Parts: sequence; structure tokens; C-alpha cells
Amino acid sequence: MNIDLLKNIFFKKIIKSRLFQFMVQLPLVVIFLLVIVAGIQGIPDPGLNIATIATWTVWWVGIVFLIFFLGAAWCLICPWAALADWIERLSFWKKTDGISFEKKWPKFLRNRHPATIFFIVVTWFELGIFITYSPFYTAYVAFGMLFITVLITLVYEKKTFCRYFCFVGGIVGMYSNLSPVEIRSKSEDVCKNCKTKDCITGNEKGYGCPIFEYPGGMNMNSNCILCTECIKTCPHDNMTFRLRPFLTDLVSGFKGRFDESLLILTLLSLTLLHGFTMLPIWTTYAGKAFNEDYYSYMLNFTLAELFFCAVVILIHLLLSILIKFSLGKNSNYDLKSIFTRFSYAFLPIAFFYHLSHNIHHLDMEGLKIVPVLSDPFGYGWNLFGTREWQPFSIIGMDSMSAVQTFLLLLGFLSATYIAYTTTRLITENKKSLLPMIPFILVAIFYGFVTFTFNFQPMVMRTVSFLG
Ligand code: SF4
Ligand code: SF4
Ligand code: SF4
Repeated sequence: MNIDLLKNIFFKKIIKSRLFQFMVQLPLVVIFLLVIVAGIQGIPDPGLNIATIATWTVWWVGIVFLIFFLGAAWCLICPWAALADWIERLSFWKKTDGISFEKKWPKFLRNRHPATIFFIVVTWFELGIFITYSPFYTAYVAFGMLFITVLITLVYEKKTFCRYFCFVGGIVGMYSNLSPVEIRSKSEDVCKNCKTKDCITGNEKGYGCPIFEYPGGMNMNSNCILCTECIKTCPHDNMTFRLRPFLTDLVSGFKGRFDESLLILTLLSLTLLHGFTMLPIWTTYAGKAFNEDYYSYMLNFTLAELFFCAVVILIHLLLSILIKFSLGKNSNYDLKSIFTRFSYAFLPIAFFYHLSHNIHHLDMEGLKIVPVLSDPFGYGWNLFGTREWQPFSIIGMDSMSAVQTFLLLLGFLSATYIAYTTTRLITENKKSLLPMIPFILVAIFYGFVTFTFNFQPMVMRTVSFLG
């Protein structure tokens, strides 16, 4: 079922070249810097400034499509990580010793909790103070992300920021377990007998795995940032890049990690919150309250964010208790392990809701990038002659409903399949599917919520309702 892409000599040569990552990063770095400059210098209209359109309509939606087909490919081309690496390594592609102080990240923070908290805080800024409607604030968020990445890269060893702190990397990592690509070792035996473990230590051809993984033993995509260093460094040519069926990591007997399960549930809550804040019921209230009684608005938004997080976690706890109960007293699986394993089954629900919600934004607003490319600052330029070009909807409203429904259904079916394989793995009586009943009820509940959110009229990102 798997297709080894490195069997293609030409592709292998490209991946093994040190120039490769630099070449794919460079265009993104240029766009990223343009976003920062346009956000600060350009006009404040979110529909006419490239900062808001490129970030919230094209990138925030495009990244989910990218994961769907290419897993963590975003991390391979990530512009703020590229700039941080170039500064720390004092090199664009050649391997160097770098100038980082190489401090060790505190042990108690060696998990995904910092990324989860960072995600909650950024969402608070993003939706609470309407960053998506402000080119200026968008530029500051981009600059802030760059600043933190450079700082942590200069102080701490390897890519500590990517492994523990970056919420974008956390989201990409969790979702890429669903994706059809992976970097893995070809033979366990070759790795077992390998004395040098260059994939960890690095050699003259490249760096040791920058996110503290042992590439030879990796069996999930959660942490891999597809940097391809292990392919370059393995002296036995034992690492490969291959295509595989969707969902592979989540139906192959994984154990999961508790910190990741909290990130997944936060991801589900905040994805639902994103949808909720686009509904007229919220925007009508928020548009008024933001201008008239800012502090009470902020308090209500903060409570709404905490409410979404708490409800999703409580529902999952209740579900885990019911599953534990249905397994009987003799089960070897404790509540924490059930909580952790079943949380991964909600990844497709969050992922396909994210896709189905954002495909609408992309269709209605994505093509605004064409006129804006000619006039990125909104100054009235016409660099490529496309400024007057009129964006249009490609899918259209009628087909959009069908596409969104299909995506939500795909999320529900994928979630059910993951829960089914997890249930088969943990039930003593392999035929007992009792734990599936509460899971399906909860999945139907989320299906109902996401379906309802999707089919309300939705406020667009590039048209500010704040007055
Ligand atoms: S983990 Fe974050 S900083 Fe690192 S490459 Fe991915 S998105 Fe960029
Ligand atoms: S991936 Fe290569 S370098 Fe790493 S342990 Fe396996 S054989 Fe050794
Ligand atoms: S070195 Fe290999 S395992 Fe580690 S992040 Fe890069 S591609 Fe993934």
C-alpha cells in the first residue's frame, strides 16, 4: 500500500540536497516579510491589504489543505523557522555549528502544554480583539511569532520552539497523523544494528533530528516537521519519504500521549469557537459591545473561550468514564489511558470541520489575493495589471452546501473508524463494541453542532463589522 517516493532517483537527489529546503523556504520568507511591511505601512482596510488576506484567508485555510495532502509540509517551508535558522546558523543552507547557547528546555515543559497554552492565548488575541480584521495587528502577530522563534532558537538547543512551544506546529503535527505522507525508517533491523545513529547526532551531511526524535524508531507523524535531515544523514540510506493510506497513524495501535490529547481537545474547542464567532448571533453582539463597552465584551469573550474549552474536555471525560465502565472491572486500561487514546478519534472531526468552515471563506474571499497582489499596500498601485480584477466564487452557494456536508460526513466516518480500531484494540472480548455506543453519541453531537454552525449565514473575514 505504501509508495516509496525516494525510489525516484531525481526526487531523492533533490531531497538529499542541502539547497532543497532553502529553495522552498525562500518564496515564503519573501511573502512573510511582505505581510509584516504591508500590515504596518499599508492601509487599514482588511479587504484591500495583503497582510490580512494572505494570512487569514489564504494561509490559515491553505495550511489545512496542505496537511490533508502533504502532512507537515508547512513546517518544511515555514518562514519564521527559516529566518530563525538562518540567523542561528549564520548560513542559508550549509551545515554549521551555529551560535545558539544550546540551553536545555526545562524538563517539566518538555510536552505539548506550552503549545496548548500559546494556542489559547493567540486565539484570545485573534478573535477577542479581532486581529483578523486589522492588517496592523496581523503584522504584529507575524513579527511576534518571528521574535519568539528567533529568541528561543538562539537560547535553547535544536528546535526547542518547534517541539514544545509552537502552536502552529502542534496543530500541524496532530493533524498530519491523518495525512497520506510519512518519513520513516525502511528496516528496523538496520537501525538496531546501526552503531553511529547519525540521524540523532548529525554528521557532515546534515543535522541530527532537530525536534529530539529518534527517526529510526518513529511511528507517528505528531512531532516530525518533515525537515528531511534524517534522510540526508542516514549513512545506511535507511530513511525514506513515502505515501501511505489516510489515517494510517491513528488506526495502527498507537498509545498516544496525555499532553497531546489535551492539545487535540483544545484544537476541537477552539475550532468550534472560531465557527461560533463568525455567526451573526455573536458578531451582532460583539460589533456593538466592542465599541460601546469594551471591558464587558472582553470579559464575555474570555468566558466564551474558557466555556468552549471546558465543555469539550468535560464531555470527553464523561465519555471516557462511560467507556471505562463499559469495559468492565477486569480491563487493563485505566481512565487516563482511555481518555488519551479516544481523544485522537476527534482529530478528524476538528480537521474536517476546519476544512468545511474555511472552504467557504476561501471560495468567497480567496481570489481577493489576485487584485491585492497588484496593490499589496492598498495605495492604488497596479503592479501586475490585476487591481481591477473582480473576485468571484468558484464553487457557488448551492454546491458549497453539498461540499461542506460531504466534508463533515467524512470527519464523522473517519472518527468512527479510529474509535472502532481503538475499541477493538482495548476490549478483552474482541467482539464487544459496547464502548462505541457513547462515542458515536458524542460524535453525532459534534456533527450536529458543526452542521448547525456551517449552515448559518457567515460573516466574512475581509469585511470588518466593527464600524
Ligand atoms: S513547528 Fe512552528 S516554527 Fe517550527 S517549523 Fe512548524 S510552524 Fe514553523
Ligand atoms: S535511521 Fe539510519 S542513522 Fe538512524 S539509526 Fe537507522 S540506520 Fe542508523
Ligand atoms: S530529522 Fe527526520 S524525523 Fe526528525 S523532524 Fe526531520 S524529517 Fe522528521
